[in-house]
Amino acid sequence: MNLSFFRRRLFWKIFLSYLAVIIISLLVVGLANRMMLPNAFDRYAGEMQSMMAGQGQGMMGGQGMLGARLGPRFFDPFRSAATEAMLVAAPIALVSAMLASLYLSRRVVSPVRRMTTAARRISEGHYSERVPQSKNTPPNQLDELGQLALDFNQMAASLEQTEAMRRQLIGDVSHELRTPLATIQGSMEGLMDGVLPATPETYQQIYQEAARLQRLVADLQELSRVEAGAFALDLQPVSLAAVVEHLSARLGRQFEEKGVQLKVDLPADLPRVLADEDRLHQVMLNLAGNALQYTPPGGQVQISARPSGREVRVAVQDSGIGIAAEHLPHLFTRFYRVDKSRSRAGGGSGIGLTIARHLVEAQGGSLWAESPGEGQGSTFTFTLPAV
Ligand code: ADP
Repeated sequence: MNLSFFRRRLFWKIFLSYLAVIIISLLVVGLANRMMLPNAFDRYAGEMQSMMAGQGQGMMGGQGMLGARLGPRFFDPFRSAATEAMLVAAPIALVSAMLASLYLSRRVVSPVRRMTTAARRISEGHYSERVPQSKNTPPNQLDELGQLALDFNQMAASLEQTEAMRRQLIGDVSHELRTPLATIQGSMEGLMDGVLPATPETYQQIYQEAARLQRLVADLQELSRVEAGAFALDLQPVSLAAVVEHLSARLGRQFEEKGVQLKVDLPADLPRVLADEDRLHQVMLNLAGNALQYTPPGGQVQISARPSGREVRVAVQDSGIGIAAEHLPHLFTRFYRVDKSRSRAGGGSGIGLTIARHLVEAQGGSLWAESPGEGQGSTFTFTLPAV
């Protein structure tokens, strides 16, 4: 919509509403004058009369109705005086209404106009756009326009953040796809040119890269589901012992093959947790899988659980490569890997922990990592509500 047109319209709206109030007031005052003047005069005359009657002199016979007896013309000078007063008052009221409308419409229009411009710029992709907002007034003391500016800026900030995340995600995903694709393409070219021998190892290498791509795509799909909260949770009382047993059965062989010892330490009287069994299994599989991956042969991984207040704490502790303090806060950020080449070679996409944290949080718990430092093992702990 054309802005100046909008401003004019708002001005006219306010002005016309003032004008209506002025006209109605003048009409009411005029009408009241016309109706009340004889009565008021009669009352006044009545009082005068009774005062004089008190002094024994009945100057005007009978109380009231003096105006009626004197005839309608008697009031004309009074009426015209009132009309004159109104004629003087009306232009002053009109000018005041005009000034007030102008002031009000300006006050309302300039912030609205700034917001309209900012909204248009945001819709064109300038997400850093903000409108000025008063910094000194506490939010609960802002008027409606101030509140609107505040909310507008908050909306813009969250749009900006979402957009930054979207860009980052696209960048990350393209980067992740590029490496395996380049390897596959390079190997195929080598095969076609006869530079690479057509041995089972070459095919194996190509196959592994394709499998990595497939895992990445599956992880991304899962990530988008959990980030959007688009998954159903079937929360039930779950026995951790059963989940850990299931996990040992699933990973046992891999631990044996690598020569890493898997220990389980669960107290017999451990309360059950309120969780979705499949999702809990998925989280533990990720943590135990990581522990196995980042623990060299000869090391050990221990899964333990303890009740803690109204929760149960589950810890997956390994004696592996550990994590330097500066990396700890970023582990749960998607695509974050401490050692890019090593975890990539191991097939890690850096998404597993992000998904795990989302899943734990969706079940009412939290997940965090601790490590005394590089080479000193790490512990991933999560909580879940106890039943
Ligand atoms: P990935 O699929 O790469 O393992 P994750 O999200 O599961 O992705 O883990 C992110 C990063 O956290 C890993 O790349 C690794 O650098 C680090 N990490 C996770 N678990 C461990 C662990 N038990 N010991 C050392 N580093 C770990």
